[in-house]
Amino acid sequence: MDGALPARPARRDRVVVVGAGMGGLAAAVDLARRGAEVTVLERAAVSGGKMRQVNGVDAGPTVFTMRWIFEGLFAEAGERIEDSLDLIPAETLARHAWRQGGRLDLFADIPRSAEAIGEFAGAAEARGYLAFCDRARDIHRTLVGSFIAAERPSPLDLVNRVGWGRLDALVRTAPWRSMWGALGDHFRDPRLRQLFGRYATYTGCSPFLAPATLMLIAHVEQDGVWLVRGGMVRVAQALRRLAERQGARFRFGAHVAEILVEGGRARGVVLADGERIEADAVVFNGDVAALARGMLGEAARPAAPDTPDAGRSLSAVTWCAHVPTAGFPLLHHNVFFAEDYAEEFDAVFRRRDICAAPTVYICAQDRGTGEVAPGEAERLLLLINAPPDGDRRDFAPQVPELAQRTLALLRACGLELGLQEADAVPTTPTGFAGLFPASGGALYGRAGHGATGTFARPGGVTRVPGLYCAGGSVHPGAGIPMAAMSGRLAAARVLEDRAGGLRRGIALPVPA
Ligand SMILES: Cc1cc2nc3c(=O)[nH]c(=O)nc-3n(C[C@H](O)[C@H](O)[C@H](O)COP(=O)(O)OP(=O)(O)OC[C@H]3O[C@@H](n4cnc5c(N)ncnc54)[C@H](O)[C@@H]3O)c2cc1C
Repeated sequence: MDGALPARPARRDRVVVVGAGMGGLAAAVDLARRGAEVTVLERAAVSGGKMRQVNGVDAGPTVFTMRWIFEGLFAEAGERIEDSLDLIPAETLARHAWRQGGRLDLFADIPRSAEAIGEFAGAAEARGYLAFCDRARDIHRTLVGSFIAAERPSPLDLVNRVGWGRLDALVRTAPWRSMWGALGDHFRDPRLRQLFGRYATYTGCSPFLAPATLMLIAHVEQDGVWLVRGGMVRVAQALRRLAERQGARFRFGAHVAEILVEGGRARGVVLADGERIEADAVVFNGDVAALARGMLGEAARPAAPDTPDAGRSLSAVTWCAHVPTAGFPLLHHNVFFAEDYAEEFDAVFRRRDICAAPTVYICAQDRGTGEVAPGEAERLLLLINAPPDGDRRDFAPQVPELAQRTLALLRACGLELGLQEADAVPTTPTGFAGLFPASGGALYGRAGHGATGTFARPGGVTRVPGLYCAGGSVHPGAGIPMAAMSGRLAAARVLEDRAGGLRRGIALPVPA
Protein backbone atom coordinates (compact mmCIF):
# COMPACT_ATOMS: atom_id res chain seq x y z
CA MET A 1 0.00 0.00 0.00
CA ASP A 2 1.39 3.38 -0.85
CA GLY A 3 -0.87 5.03 1.70
CA ALA A 4 -3.05 6.79 -0.86
CA LEU A 5 -6.76 6.56 -0.18
CA PRO A 6 -8.58 4.26 -2.57
CA ALA A 7 -10.39 6.32 -5.20
CA ARG A 8 -14.06 6.69 -4.24
CA PRO A 9 -16.23 5.62 -7.12
CA ALA A 10 -17.57 8.82 -8.69
CA ARG A 11 -21.23 9.37 -7.85
CA ARG A 12 -23.40 9.19 -10.94
CA ASP A 13 -25.27 12.34 -11.86
CA ARG A 14 -28.89 12.10 -10.77
CA VAL A 15 -31.30 13.52 -13.30
CA VAL A 16 -35.05 13.81 -12.85
CA VAL A 17 -37.08 13.96 -16.06
CA VAL A 18 -40.56 15.43 -15.51
CA GLY A 19 -42.91 13.93 -18.09
CA ALA A 20 -42.73 10.88 -20.34
CA GLY A 21 -43.73 12.51 -23.62
CA MET A 22 -41.49 12.21 -26.66
CA GLY A 23 -39.03 14.82 -25.38
CA GLY A 24 -38.80 13.29 -21.91
CA LEU A 25 -38.41 9.76 -23.26
CA ALA A 26 -35.65 10.71 -25.70
CA ALA A 27 -33.81 12.65 -23.00
CA ALA A 28 -34.11 9.70 -20.61
CA VAL A 29 -32.64 7.31 -23.19
CA ASP A 30 -29.61 9.49 -23.91
CA LEU A 31 -28.97 10.45 -20.29
CA ALA A 32 -29.21 6.87 -18.99
CA ARG A 33 -27.08 5.56 -21.84
CA ARG A 34 -24.36 8.03 -20.88
CA GLY A 35 -24.36 6.85 -17.26
CA ALA A 36 -26.72 9.24 -15.47
CA GLU A 37 -29.07 7.90 -12.81
CA VAL A 38 -32.37 8.82 -14.44
CA THR A 39 -35.81 8.92 -12.82
CA VAL A 40 -38.74 9.77 -15.07
CA LEU A 41 -41.76 11.14 -13.19
CA GLU A 42 -45.00 11.09 -15.15
CA ARG A 43 -48.37 12.27 -13.83
CA ALA A 44 -50.34 10.03 -16.23
CA ALA A 45 -50.59 6.26 -15.91
CA VAL A 46 -48.58 5.53 -19.05
CA SER A 47 -45.79 7.00 -21.15
CA GLY A 48 -46.40 8.93 -24.38
CA GLY A 49 -48.08 12.19 -23.34
CA LYS A 50 -50.00 13.38 -26.41
CA MET A 51 -49.22 10.02 -27.99
CA ARG A 52 -52.04 8.25 -26.22
CA GLN A 53 -54.92 5.91 -26.98
CA VAL A 54 -58.60 6.31 -26.16
CA ASN A 55 -60.63 3.11 -26.31
CA GLY A 56 -57.90 1.40 -28.31
CA VAL A 57 -57.81 4.20 -30.90
CA ASP A 58 -54.70 6.37 -31.37
CA ALA A 59 -55.86 9.77 -30.13
CA GLY A 60 -52.73 11.83 -30.77
CA PRO A 61 -50.08 11.85 -33.48
CA THR A 62 -50.67 9.62 -36.47
CA VAL A 63 -48.08 10.77 -39.03
CA PHE A 64 -44.64 9.29 -38.28
CA THR A 65 -41.84 11.11 -40.13
CA MET A 66 -38.10 11.83 -39.74
CA ARG A 67 -37.40 8.24 -38.90
CA TRP A 68 -33.68 9.08 -38.77
CA ILE A 69 -34.11 10.88 -35.46
CA PHE A 70 -35.48 7.75 -33.81
CA GLU A 71 -33.02 5.52 -35.65
CA GLY A 72 -30.19 7.62 -34.21
CA LEU A 73 -31.62 7.33 -30.70
CA PHE A 74 -31.71 3.53 -30.92
CA ALA A 75 -28.40 3.18 -32.78
CA GLU A 76 -26.46 5.25 -30.28
CA ALA A 77 -27.90 3.06 -27.55
CA GLY A 78 -26.52 0.05 -29.45
CA GLU A 79 -29.87 -1.15 -30.75
CA ARG A 80 -31.77 -1.27 -34.04
CA ILE A 81 -35.12 0.45 -34.29
CA GLU A 82 -36.52 -2.38 -36.39
CA ASP A 83 -36.04 -4.80 -33.48
CA SER A 84 -38.48 -2.72 -31.43
CA LEU A 85 -40.89 -1.20 -33.95
CA ASP A 86 -42.57 -2.53 -37.07
CA LEU A 87 -42.54 0.52 -39.35
CA ILE A 88 -44.30 0.20 -42.69
CA PRO A 89 -43.41 2.78 -45.35
CA ALA A 90 -46.59 4.46 -46.64
CA GLU A 91 -46.77 4.40 -50.42
CA THR A 92 -49.64 6.86 -50.43
CA LEU A 93 -49.07 9.80 -48.10
CA ALA A 94 -52.70 10.91 -47.88
CA ARG A 95 -56.01 11.09 -49.75
CA HIS A 96 -57.56 14.55 -50.08
CA ALA A 97 -61.15 15.43 -51.00
CA TRP A 98 -62.98 18.71 -51.46
CA ARG A 99 -66.58 19.61 -50.81
CA GLN A 100 -66.73 21.40 -54.17
CA GLY A 101 -65.45 18.27 -55.84
CA GLY A 102 -62.21 16.50 -56.61
CA ARG A 103 -60.10 13.86 -54.97
CA LEU A 104 -56.31 13.73 -54.99
CA ASP A 105 -53.80 11.29 -53.56
CA LEU A 106 -50.24 12.28 -52.78
CA PHE A 107 -47.60 9.59 -53.00
CA ALA A 108 -44.18 9.01 -51.50
CA ASP A 109 -42.94 9.02 -55.09
CA ILE A 110 -42.69 12.60 -56.42
CA PRO A 111 -43.15 11.80 -60.14
CA ARG A 112 -46.25 9.77 -59.26
CA SER A 113 -47.68 12.69 -57.28
CA ALA A 114 -46.85 15.08 -60.15
CA GLU A 115 -48.76 12.82 -62.52
CA ALA A 116 -51.74 12.72 -60.17
CA ILE A 117 -51.66 16.52 -59.81
CA GLY A 118 -51.47 16.87 -63.60
CA GLU A 119 -54.62 14.77 -63.98
CA PHE A 120 -56.33 16.64 -61.15
CA ALA A 121 -55.49 20.24 -62.08
CA GLY A 122 -53.46 20.34 -65.29
CA ALA A 123 -49.88 20.24 -66.48
CA ALA A 124 -48.94 23.73 -65.22
CA GLU A 125 -49.88 22.74 -61.65
CA ALA A 126 -47.84 19.55 -61.98
CA ARG A 127 -44.82 21.64 -63.00
CA GLY A 128 -45.55 24.00 -60.10
CA TYR A 129 -45.54 21.00 -57.77
CA LEU A 130 -42.14 19.83 -58.97
CA ALA A 131 -40.69 23.31 -58.42
CA PHE A 132 -42.35 23.41 -54.99
CA CYS A 133 -40.72 20.07 -54.06
CA ASP A 134 -37.30 21.45 -55.07
CA ARG A 135 -37.90 24.53 -52.96
CA ALA A 136 -39.04 22.54 -49.92
CA ARG A 137 -35.95 20.31 -50.24
CA ASP A 138 -33.68 23.33 -50.50
CA ILE A 139 -35.13 24.93 -47.34
CA HIS A 140 -34.86 21.63 -45.49
CA ARG A 141 -31.23 21.19 -46.53
CA THR A 142 -30.38 24.66 -45.23
CA LEU A 143 -32.08 24.22 -41.87
CA VAL A 144 -31.83 20.55 -40.91
CA GLY A 145 -28.34 20.75 -39.44
CA SER A 146 -28.30 24.42 -38.52
CA PHE A 147 -31.69 24.68 -36.84
CA ILE A 148 -33.57 21.41 -36.42
CA ALA A 149 -30.75 19.26 -35.03
CA ALA A 150 -28.95 22.00 -33.13
CA GLU A 151 -29.53 24.03 -30.00
CA ARG A 152 -31.71 27.09 -30.44
CA PRO A 153 -29.88 29.72 -32.44
CA SER A 154 -30.35 33.47 -32.46
CA PRO A 155 -30.84 34.84 -35.97
CA LEU A 156 -27.13 35.75 -36.00
CA ASP A 157 -26.11 32.26 -34.81
CA LEU A 158 -28.16 30.85 -37.65
CA VAL A 159 -26.28 32.93 -40.20
CA ASN A 160 -22.99 31.78 -38.68
CA ARG A 161 -24.03 28.15 -38.73
CA VAL A 162 -25.26 28.20 -42.31
CA GLY A 163 -22.20 30.22 -43.33
CA TRP A 164 -21.86 33.79 -44.54
CA GLY A 165 -21.01 32.41 -47.97
CA ARG A 166 -24.42 30.75 -48.10
CA LEU A 167 -26.56 33.77 -47.30
CA ASP A 168 -28.46 33.13 -50.53
CA ALA A 169 -29.63 29.77 -49.13
CA LEU A 170 -30.92 31.51 -45.99
CA VAL A 171 -32.65 34.15 -48.08
CA ARG A 172 -34.42 31.34 -49.96
CA THR A 173 -35.97 30.09 -46.69
CA ALA A 174 -38.10 33.27 -47.00
CA PRO A 175 -39.16 33.77 -43.36
CA TRP A 176 -40.66 37.21 -44.10
CA ARG A 177 -43.16 35.81 -46.62
CA SER A 178 -46.31 34.02 -45.58
CA MET A 179 -46.55 30.39 -46.47
CA TRP A 180 -49.85 31.04 -48.21
CA GLY A 181 -48.30 33.78 -50.33
CA ALA A 182 -45.31 31.65 -51.29
CA LEU A 183 -47.55 28.75 -52.26
CA GLY A 184 -49.10 31.13 -54.80
CA ASP A 185 -45.73 31.09 -56.62
CA HIS A 186 -46.38 27.43 -57.43
CA PHE A 187 -50.11 26.77 -57.46
CA ARG A 188 -53.01 28.59 -59.07
CA ASP A 189 -55.61 26.00 -58.09
CA PRO A 190 -56.84 27.08 -54.63
CA ARG A 191 -57.34 23.44 -53.69
CA LEU A 192 -53.63 22.75 -54.09
CA ARG A 193 -52.70 25.81 -52.07
CA GLN A 194 -55.01 24.51 -49.37
CA LEU A 195 -53.51 21.03 -49.49
CA PHE A 196 -49.91 22.22 -49.18
CA GLY A 197 -50.81 25.08 -46.83
CA ARG A 198 -52.14 22.48 -44.42
CA TYR A 199 -48.55 21.51 -43.61
CA ALA A 200 -48.41 24.65 -41.43
CA THR A 201 -50.91 22.99 -39.11
CA TYR A 202 -48.38 20.24 -38.40
CA THR A 203 -46.74 22.75 -36.09
CA GLY A 204 -50.01 24.28 -34.97
CA CYS A 205 -49.84 27.32 -37.26
CA SER A 206 -52.11 29.05 -39.75
CA PRO A 207 -50.72 28.92 -43.30
CA PHE A 208 -51.77 32.56 -43.61
CA LEU A 209 -49.57 33.62 -40.67
CA ALA A 210 -46.76 31.06 -40.83
CA PRO A 211 -43.53 31.88 -42.64
CA ALA A 212 -42.89 30.30 -46.04
CA THR A 213 -40.02 28.47 -44.33
CA LEU A 214 -42.53 25.87 -43.11
CA MET A 215 -42.78 24.59 -46.67
CA LEU A 216 -39.89 22.36 -45.59
CA ILE A 217 -42.50 20.13 -43.91
CA ALA A 218 -43.57 19.01 -47.38
CA HIS A 219 -40.05 17.69 -47.88
CA VAL A 220 -40.13 15.95 -44.51
CA GLU A 221 -43.21 14.00 -45.67
CA GLN A 222 -41.73 13.38 -49.09
CA ASP A 223 -38.72 11.91 -47.31
CA GLY A 224 -40.92 9.23 -45.82
CA VAL A 225 -44.06 8.59 -43.81
CA TRP A 226 -44.30 5.34 -41.88
CA LEU A 227 -47.26 3.52 -40.42
CA VAL A 228 -46.59 1.85 -37.09
CA ARG A 229 -47.97 -1.66 -36.78
CA GLY A 230 -49.92 -1.90 -33.55
CA GLY A 231 -50.52 1.85 -33.44
CA MET A 232 -48.50 4.95 -32.68
CA VAL A 233 -48.49 4.24 -28.95
CA ARG A 234 -46.01 1.49 -29.74
CA VAL A 235 -43.44 4.24 -30.33
CA ALA A 236 -43.84 5.54 -26.78
CA GLN A 237 -43.78 2.01 -25.39
CA ALA A 238 -40.63 1.19 -27.37
CA LEU A 239 -38.85 4.34 -26.16
CA ARG A 240 -39.80 3.66 -22.58
CA ARG A 241 -38.40 0.12 -22.80
CA LEU A 242 -35.25 1.41 -24.49
CA ALA A 243 -34.76 3.92 -21.67
CA GLU A 244 -35.34 1.18 -19.09
CA ARG A 245 -32.77 -1.07 -20.76
CA GLN A 246 -30.31 1.81 -20.39
CA GLY A 247 -31.14 1.93 -16.68
CA ALA A 248 -33.77 4.70 -16.43
CA ARG A 249 -36.52 4.26 -13.81
CA PHE A 250 -40.11 5.30 -14.44
CA ARG A 251 -42.74 6.31 -11.91
CA PHE A 252 -46.29 6.90 -13.10
CA GLY A 253 -49.08 8.75 -11.32
CA ALA A 254 -46.30 11.05 -10.09
CA HIS A 255 -47.36 14.68 -10.48
CA VAL A 256 -44.47 17.07 -9.92
CA ALA A 257 -45.82 20.05 -7.99
CA GLU A 258 -42.57 21.94 -7.52
CA ILE A 259 -39.09 22.18 -8.92
CA LEU A 260 -36.72 22.70 -6.00
CA VAL A 261 -34.37 25.62 -6.51
CA GLU A 262 -31.72 26.05 -3.83
CA GLY A 263 -28.58 28.14 -3.94
CA GLY A 264 -29.71 29.46 -7.30
CA ARG A 265 -29.92 26.11 -9.08
CA ALA A 266 -32.39 23.25 -9.54
CA ARG A 267 -31.83 20.60 -6.88
CA GLY A 268 -34.74 18.23 -7.46
CA VAL A 269 -38.50 18.13 -7.31
CA VAL A 270 -41.40 17.78 -4.89
CA LEU A 271 -44.33 15.54 -5.83
CA ALA A 272 -47.95 16.45 -5.20
CA ASP A 273 -47.99 14.14 -2.16
CA GLY A 274 -45.02 16.00 -0.65
CA GLU A 275 -42.30 13.48 -1.51
CA ARG A 276 -38.99 15.19 -2.19
CA ILE A 277 -36.64 13.77 -4.80
CA GLU A 278 -33.17 15.29 -5.05
CA ALA A 279 -31.30 15.59 -8.30
CA ASP A 280 -28.29 17.25 -9.90
CA ALA A 281 -30.37 18.32 -12.90
CA VAL A 282 -34.04 18.42 -13.87
CA VAL A 283 -35.41 18.12 -17.42
CA PHE A 284 -38.96 19.45 -17.67
CA ASN A 285 -41.02 17.91 -20.49
CA GLY A 286 -44.37 19.56 -19.77
CA ASP A 287 -45.52 22.69 -21.62
CA VAL A 288 -42.84 25.30 -20.93
CA ALA A 289 -45.54 27.88 -20.09
CA ALA A 290 -46.21 25.93 -16.87
CA LEU A 291 -42.93 27.25 -15.47
CA ALA A 292 -43.71 30.95 -15.97
CA ARG A 293 -47.27 30.40 -14.74
CA GLY A 294 -45.98 29.21 -11.38
CA MET A 295 -47.31 25.66 -11.73
CA LEU A 296 -43.92 24.27 -10.71
CA GLY A 297 -43.41 26.67 -7.82
CA GLU A 298 -42.39 30.30 -7.47
CA ALA A 299 -38.67 29.67 -7.74
CA ALA A 300 -39.02 28.11 -11.19
CA ARG A 301 -41.14 30.98 -12.53
CA PRO A 302 -38.25 32.98 -14.04
CA ALA A 303 -36.84 29.90 -15.78
CA ALA A 304 -38.45 30.57 -19.16
CA PRO A 305 -40.71 33.16 -20.76
CA ASP A 306 -44.46 32.67 -20.67
CA THR A 307 -46.44 31.87 -23.81
CA PRO A 308 -49.05 34.63 -24.12
CA ASP A 309 -52.52 33.17 -24.75
CA ALA A 310 -52.58 34.94 -28.13
CA GLY A 311 -49.31 33.24 -29.08
CA ARG A 312 -50.52 29.70 -28.55
CA SER A 313 -50.70 27.19 -31.39
CA LEU A 314 -53.76 25.31 -32.64
CA SER A 315 -55.85 23.09 -30.46
CA ALA A 316 -58.34 20.54 -31.76
CA VAL A 317 -61.56 18.74 -31.21
CA THR A 318 -61.04 15.05 -31.81
CA TRP A 319 -63.25 11.98 -31.78
CA CYS A 320 -61.98 8.44 -31.29
CA ALA A 321 -64.53 6.12 -32.80
CA HIS A 322 -65.25 2.53 -33.77
CA VAL A 323 -67.62 2.93 -36.72
CA PRO A 324 -68.59 1.44 -40.05
CA THR A 325 -67.95 3.73 -43.04
CA ALA A 326 -69.48 3.85 -46.51
CA GLY A 327 -69.36 5.77 -49.77
CA PHE A 328 -65.73 6.92 -49.71
CA PRO A 329 -62.63 4.74 -50.05
CA LEU A 330 -60.67 5.82 -47.00
CA LEU A 331 -56.91 5.33 -46.81
CA HIS A 332 -54.86 5.54 -43.62
CA HIS A 333 -54.57 9.37 -43.79
CA ASN A 334 -57.48 11.40 -45.24
CA VAL A 335 -58.24 15.10 -45.39
CA PHE A 336 -61.61 16.65 -46.26
CA PHE A 337 -61.62 20.34 -47.16
CA ALA A 338 -64.38 22.94 -47.40
CA GLU A 339 -63.89 25.98 -49.66
CA ASP A 340 -63.02 28.80 -47.29
CA TYR A 341 -59.64 28.00 -45.77
CA ALA A 342 -58.93 31.62 -44.75
CA GLU A 343 -62.14 31.67 -42.74
CA GLU A 344 -61.10 28.55 -40.84
CA PHE A 345 -57.91 30.17 -39.50
CA ASP A 346 -59.49 33.57 -39.04
CA ALA A 347 -62.07 31.85 -36.85
CA VAL A 348 -59.48 30.04 -34.74
CA PHE A 349 -56.79 32.68 -34.33
CA ARG A 350 -58.79 35.95 -34.47
CA ARG A 351 -62.36 35.15 -33.41
CA ARG A 352 -61.21 32.24 -31.18
CA ASP A 353 -63.91 29.99 -32.59
CA ILE A 354 -64.44 27.00 -34.87
CA CYS A 355 -65.65 27.83 -38.38
CA ALA A 356 -68.93 26.53 -39.79
CA ALA A 357 -67.27 24.04 -42.14
CA PRO A 358 -63.88 23.05 -40.70
CA THR A 359 -61.36 20.87 -42.50
CA VAL A 360 -61.67 17.31 -41.21
CA TYR A 361 -58.69 14.98 -40.87
CA ILE A 362 -59.43 11.28 -40.49
CA CYS A 363 -56.91 8.63 -39.60
CA ALA A 364 -58.44 5.27 -40.51
CA GLN A 365 -56.04 3.29 -38.40
CA ASP A 366 -56.85 -0.19 -39.59
CA ARG A 367 -56.16 0.75 -43.20
CA GLY A 368 -52.65 0.21 -44.50
CA THR A 369 -51.74 -2.07 -41.60
CA GLY A 370 -54.58 -4.56 -41.87
CA GLU A 371 -57.82 -5.38 -43.66
CA VAL A 372 -61.22 -3.79 -43.07
CA ALA A 373 -64.21 -5.86 -44.14
CA PRO A 374 -66.97 -3.81 -45.84
CA GLY A 375 -69.59 -2.60 -43.37
CA GLU A 376 -67.52 -3.59 -40.36
CA ALA A 377 -66.75 -1.05 -37.65
CA GLU A 378 -63.22 0.33 -37.91
CA ARG A 379 -61.06 2.55 -35.73
CA LEU A 380 -61.08 6.22 -36.69
CA LEU A 381 -59.54 9.39 -35.27
CA LEU A 382 -61.39 12.49 -36.52
CA LEU A 383 -59.85 15.91 -35.95
CA ILE A 384 -60.89 19.51 -36.57
CA ASN A 385 -58.89 22.64 -35.67
CA ALA A 386 -59.97 24.62 -32.62
CA PRO A 387 -58.75 27.63 -30.63
CA PRO A 388 -56.37 26.96 -27.72
CA ASP A 389 -58.68 28.41 -25.10
CA GLY A 390 -59.45 25.25 -23.17
CA ASP A 391 -58.49 26.88 -19.87
CA ARG A 392 -60.89 29.77 -20.41
CA ARG A 393 -63.93 28.07 -21.98
CA ASP A 394 -65.69 24.77 -21.69
CA PHE A 395 -66.01 23.41 -25.23
CA ALA A 396 -67.96 20.30 -24.17
CA PRO A 397 -71.45 21.79 -24.71
CA GLN A 398 -70.50 22.53 -28.35
CA VAL A 399 -69.54 18.93 -29.13
CA PRO A 400 -72.90 17.60 -30.46
CA GLU A 401 -73.24 20.53 -32.86
CA LEU A 402 -69.59 20.26 -33.96
CA ALA A 403 -70.15 16.57 -34.65
CA GLN A 404 -73.07 17.47 -36.90
CA ARG A 405 -70.98 20.06 -38.80
CA THR A 406 -68.16 17.55 -39.19
CA LEU A 407 -70.48 14.84 -40.45
CA ALA A 408 -72.10 17.30 -42.87
CA LEU A 409 -68.76 18.13 -44.51
CA LEU A 410 -67.85 14.45 -44.74
CA ARG A 411 -71.23 13.66 -46.27
CA ALA A 412 -70.74 16.41 -48.85
CA CYS A 413 -67.43 14.73 -49.77
CA GLY A 414 -69.19 11.38 -50.11
CA LEU A 415 -68.32 9.76 -46.78
CA GLU A 416 -71.08 8.34 -44.57
CA LEU A 417 -70.19 7.49 -40.99
CA GLY A 418 -72.47 5.53 -38.75
CA LEU A 419 -71.35 7.73 -35.90
CA GLN A 420 -73.44 7.09 -32.82
CA GLU A 421 -72.59 9.22 -29.85
CA ALA A 422 -71.86 6.14 -27.80
CA ASP A 423 -69.20 4.99 -30.26
CA ALA A 424 -67.20 8.19 -30.34
CA VAL A 425 -65.17 9.68 -27.49
CA PRO A 426 -64.54 13.40 -27.99
CA THR A 427 -61.63 15.43 -26.62
CA THR A 428 -61.97 19.21 -26.72
CA PRO A 429 -59.45 21.99 -26.03
CA THR A 430 -60.76 21.86 -22.47
CA GLY A 431 -59.84 18.18 -22.27
CA PHE A 432 -56.38 18.79 -23.73
CA ALA A 433 -55.84 21.70 -21.33
CA GLY A 434 -56.57 19.35 -18.43
CA LEU A 435 -54.17 16.71 -19.73
CA PHE A 436 -51.33 19.13 -20.51
CA PRO A 437 -51.07 21.84 -17.83
CA ALA A 438 -50.62 25.49 -18.94
CA SER A 439 -51.19 24.65 -22.60
CA GLY A 440 -54.80 25.85 -22.76
CA GLY A 441 -55.17 22.87 -25.09
CA ALA A 442 -52.55 24.17 -27.56
CA LEU A 443 -51.05 21.02 -28.98
CA TYR A 444 -47.82 22.44 -30.38
CA GLY A 445 -46.61 25.03 -27.84
CA ARG A 446 -46.17 28.52 -29.21
CA ALA A 447 -47.26 29.17 -32.79
CA GLY A 448 -44.29 30.10 -34.97
CA HIS A 449 -46.15 32.88 -36.75
CA GLY A 450 -44.36 35.71 -38.55
CA ALA A 451 -40.75 36.06 -39.59
CA THR A 452 -39.32 35.71 -36.10
CA GLY A 453 -41.97 33.59 -34.38
CA THR A 454 -39.85 30.51 -34.48
CA PHE A 455 -37.05 32.29 -32.58
CA ALA A 456 -39.53 33.20 -29.82
CA ARG A 457 -39.84 29.54 -28.88
CA PRO A 458 -37.59 28.96 -25.85
CA GLY A 459 -34.58 26.71 -26.08
CA GLY A 460 -33.77 23.77 -23.81
CA VAL A 461 -31.52 25.79 -21.49
CA THR A 462 -33.46 27.80 -18.92
CA ARG A 463 -32.51 30.79 -16.79
CA VAL A 464 -32.33 28.53 -13.72
CA PRO A 465 -29.05 26.59 -13.78
CA GLY A 466 -29.64 22.85 -13.62
CA LEU A 467 -33.14 23.13 -15.09
CA TYR A 468 -33.64 22.21 -18.74
CA CYS A 469 -36.68 21.85 -21.01
CA ALA A 470 -37.59 19.31 -23.65
CA GLY A 471 -40.72 18.82 -25.74
CA GLY A 472 -42.86 20.34 -28.43
CA SER A 473 -43.15 23.71 -26.71
CA VAL A 474 -39.40 24.37 -26.93
CA HIS A 475 -36.88 24.44 -29.78
CA PRO A 476 -36.90 22.97 -32.40
CA GLY A 477 -40.67 22.66 -32.01
CA ALA A 478 -43.60 20.30 -32.08
CA GLY A 479 -44.26 17.03 -33.80
CA ILE A 480 -42.98 13.75 -32.46
CA PRO A 481 -39.58 13.77 -34.18
CA MET A 482 -38.92 17.39 -33.27
CA ALA A 483 -39.96 16.84 -29.66
CA ALA A 484 -37.66 13.80 -29.55
CA MET A 485 -34.88 15.95 -31.00
CA SER A 486 -35.42 18.53 -28.27
CA GLY A 487 -35.02 15.76 -25.69
CA ARG A 488 -31.77 14.64 -27.28
CA LEU A 489 -30.48 18.21 -27.31
CA ALA A 490 -31.48 18.74 -23.67
CA ALA A 491 -29.68 15.52 -22.67
CA ALA A 492 -26.55 16.58 -24.55
CA ARG A 493 -26.63 19.96 -22.80
CA VAL A 494 -27.12 18.41 -19.32
CA LEU A 495 -24.14 16.12 -19.89
CA GLU A 496 -21.99 18.92 -21.28
CA ASP A 497 -22.79 21.17 -18.30
CA ARG A 498 -22.26 18.40 -15.75
CA ALA A 499 -18.87 17.67 -17.30
CA GLY A 500 -17.99 21.36 -17.00
CA GLY A 501 -17.70 21.65 -20.79
CA LEU A 502 -17.82 24.96 -22.54
CA ARG A 503 -19.24 23.80 -25.86
CA ARG A 504 -22.07 26.06 -27.02
CA GLY A 505 -24.53 25.44 -29.84
CA ILE A 506 -24.50 21.66 -29.59
CA ALA A 507 -25.52 20.02 -32.88
CA LEU A 508 -26.43 16.37 -33.44
CA PRO A 509 -25.62 14.40 -36.58
CA VAL A 510 -28.04 14.63 -39.51
CA PRO A 511 -28.33 12.33 -42.51
CA ALA A 512 -26.11 13.21 -45.47
C1 LIG B 1 -54.43 15.12 -31.79
C2 LIG B 1 -52.97 15.30 -32.07
C3 LIG B 1 -52.47 15.00 -33.33
C4 LIG B 1 -51.11 15.16 -33.60
N1 LIG B 1 -50.63 14.76 -34.82
C5 LIG B 1 -49.29 14.65 -34.99
C6 LIG B 1 -48.78 13.93 -36.10
O1 LIG B 1 -49.51 13.36 -36.89
N2 LIG B 1 -47.42 13.85 -36.23
C7 LIG B 1 -46.57 14.42 -35.33
O2 LIG B 1 -45.35 14.31 -35.50
N3 LIG B 1 -47.05 15.10 -34.25
C8 LIG B 1 -48.38 15.21 -34.05
N4 LIG B 1 -48.88 15.80 -32.93
C9 LIG B 1 -47.95 16.52 -32.03
C10 LIG B 1 -47.14 15.56 -31.16
O3 LIG B 1 -47.98 14.62 -30.59
C11 LIG B 1 -46.45 16.35 -30.08
O4 LIG B 1 -45.70 17.44 -30.63
C12 LIG B 1 -45.48 15.51 -29.25
O5 LIG B 1 -46.01 14.24 -28.97
C13 LIG B 1 -45.22 16.28 -27.97
O6 LIG B 1 -44.28 15.64 -27.18
P1 LIG B 1 -43.72 16.34 -25.89
O7 LIG B 1 -42.32 15.87 -25.70
O8 LIG B 1 -43.92 17.81 -25.97
O9 LIG B 1 -44.54 15.76 -24.68
P2 LIG B 1 -46.10 15.72 -24.40
O10 LIG B 1 -46.73 14.76 -25.30
O11 LIG B 1 -46.66 17.07 -24.28
O12 LIG B 1 -46.06 15.04 -22.96
C14 LIG B 1 -45.66 15.75 -21.82
C15 LIG B 1 -45.81 14.81 -20.65
O13 LIG B 1 -45.44 15.52 -19.47
C16 LIG B 1 -46.34 15.13 -18.45
N5 LIG B 1 -46.33 16.20 -17.43
C17 LIG B 1 -46.61 17.52 -17.63
N6 LIG B 1 -46.52 18.18 -16.46
C18 LIG B 1 -46.16 17.28 -15.52
C19 LIG B 1 -45.91 17.35 -14.12
N7 LIG B 1 -46.00 18.52 -13.46
N8 LIG B 1 -45.58 16.22 -13.46
C20 LIG B 1 -45.47 15.03 -14.12
N9 LIG B 1 -45.71 14.90 -15.44
C21 LIG B 1 -46.03 16.01 -16.14
C22 LIG B 1 -47.67 15.00 -19.16
O14 LIG B 1 -48.59 14.20 -18.44
C23 LIG B 1 -47.25 14.35 -20.46
O15 LIG B 1 -47.26 12.95 -20.39
C24 LIG B 1 -50.24 15.66 -32.61
C25 LIG B 1 -50.73 15.96 -31.34
C26 LIG B 1 -52.08 15.75 -31.06
C27 LIG B 1 -52.58 15.99 -29.67
